[in-house]
Amino acid sequence: MARIVMKFGGTSVADINRIRNVARHVKREVDAGHEVAVVVSAMSGKTNELVAWCREASPMHDAREYDAVVASGEQVTAGLLAITLQGMGVHARSWQGWQIPIKTDNAHGAARIQEIDGSFLAKRFGEGQVAVIAGFQGLAPDNRIATLGRGGSDTSAVAIAAAVKADRCDIYTDVDGVYTTDPRIEPKARRLAKISFEEMLEMASLGAKVLQVRSVELAMVHKVRTFVRSSFEDPDAPGMGDFENPPGTLICDEDEILEQQVVTGIAYAKDEAQISLRRVADRPGVAAGIFGPLAEANINVDMIVQNISEDGSRTDMTFTVPSADVAKAVAVLEKNKDQVGFDALQHDEGMAKVSVIGIGMRSHAGVAAIAFKALADRGINIRAITTSEIKISILIDAAYTELAVRTLHSVYGLDKQ
Ligand code: ADP
Ligand code: ASP
Ligand code: MG
Repeated sequence: MARIVMKFGGTSVADINRIRNVARHVKREVDAGHEVAVVVSAMSGKTNELVAWCREASPMHDAREYDAVVASGEQVTAGLLAITLQGMGVHARSWQGWQIPIKTDNAHGAARIQEIDGSFLAKRFGEGQVAVIAGFQGLAPDNRIATLGRGGSDTSAVAIAAAVKADRCDIYTDVDGVYTTDPRIEPKARRLAKISFEEMLEMASLGAKVLQVRSVELAMVHKVRTFVRSSFEDPDAPGMGDFENPPGTLICDEDEILEQQVVTGIAYAKDEAQISLRRVADRPGVAAGIFGPLAEANINVDMIVQNISEDGSRTDMTFTVPSADVAKAVAVLEKNKDQVGFDALQHDEGMAKVSVIGIGMRSHAGVAAIAFKALADRGINIRAITTSEIKISILIDAAYTELAVRTLHSVYGLDKQ
């Protein structure tokens, strides 16, 4: 007997038929004698609708009320799945974040889980009950419901798996694993049998939304054996209940991966914007003068490029922010114009960041040069570059995103044979 946390995303619970299919996956594991807890997302499209209603009600809405509204989607699915499981003769009960409780910090709308006392769920396991838990939500210190940021049900699932010391956390979604790139953009993408925590962390941070970044961090820290797998397959097909080797992608330590490729995957993020400050004074403190106020305004600055100054006194500073934050960033910079001292400010929305990820880069030279040449051959202009030990990120015009992803996917030999 093992203990398994099963998480089902929005498309997996999009209607009652799909919820029935999900219930069959759950029943399979229960019938095999395992202790099971389930985490569910809202039905596909529901959270977007709720977010849009908040914006329509007031663009400057209170984050605590946003949470009260958007957390409701998960409550519905948890109840519906519990009803469906009961109808199949499975002893199931729905639970919301505050009932367990899943304690978070006070950052409404983007809260972090701080503590889950596993004893509540241990009791449910003891009673032979399948707890069906609403993902994406918890209880903040102000005694109000808090949500974990978009895609947060993944994080709920991994955090719960860590709290109850589950043997496995299965993230069921609409693809059958983690691919070398988004299979919706590149049909030649290959499914990976395994991917290291570090690479998955980069993939997720750089745009692959198959797992929320925080869920990968938690899986890495708490050593949660996490699989990404499909909910759409026949729950009773051969091998679906295989405990050691379920179908899907295992996120694991790098030593568990025998054949490490130089490049493991390509990720992309659209909706990036570029801001350039022209002729900024080239003196100590200038970067702090620009990026300090942006940080205070909670604007996430990503790539930063500072040119060499021509005359030793003035330089250009270029950086990226999420498109949604451009207006706010420009306002902050204009307000601080005298203090920073720049001649002109230009901004360009509609950028995309394409990234090449692979642990093998640590020990291989020339990986970046291959990307630059491949993009040049396609006439794709590079606007900015950043690198780390295991990734290269390149800023381009968003119109070329698909072409760039496919080009890089192919040039690093990732295409399906
Ligand atoms: P869920 O609703 O189940 O949480 P998401 O839509 O959040 O599902 O995540 C699954 C989606 O992630 C897939 O449909 C796929 O388009 C996208 N995706 C992006 N990059 C990858 C990748 N490298 N491998 C697999 N899926 C990816
Ligand atoms: N329903 C939430 C969202 O759409 C959480 C999730 O799906 O993980 O962001
Ligand atoms: Mg998701």
